[in-house]
Amino acid sequence: MVEVSNYEKLEKEFEEKVKKLRQECEHKELTGWISYIDETTYLYNQTIETKYCENCRKIRKKRTKCPQCDGYIDKRTWIRALVTEVNKGILFNEFKGIARQGYALFCNNEKCIKDFIESKKKKYEIYIETFKR
Ligand SMILES: [Zn+2]
Ligand SMILES: [Zn+2]
Repeated sequence: MVEVSNYEKLEKEFEEKVKKLRQECEHKELTGWISYIDETTYLYNQTIETKYCENCRKIRKKRTKCPQCDGYIDKRTWIRALVTEVNKGILFNEFKGIARQGYALFCNNEKCIKDFIESKKKKYEIYIETFKR
């Protein structure tokens, strides 16, 4: 059997304690909106914000802005879309960071995606694939 180092032991203890704290917490007090970055958010090129529980630091809310209507959208309702620009161009500058291919999060209003495609089609050939969560 492999001997567990002190560091790993401490880390495991910490994780177990946090897990227990989060299970028992009622998440009554939330932080304000805070910019959120993790290993997946760079894919979106949209600012994602979260609210954490003040007591246990569990993420309770996530939001971003729809790139078409600029309205705030909640994680529970947003639609993930893969936007691919077929022609060369500078879609990057026009759409808040979406380069030639990238994910975007739209609001639940399917009209936004349609309008987005229509508005970009005038200049670029783009392709959008959507994923419902
Ligand atoms: Zn909590
Ligand atoms: Zn929208």
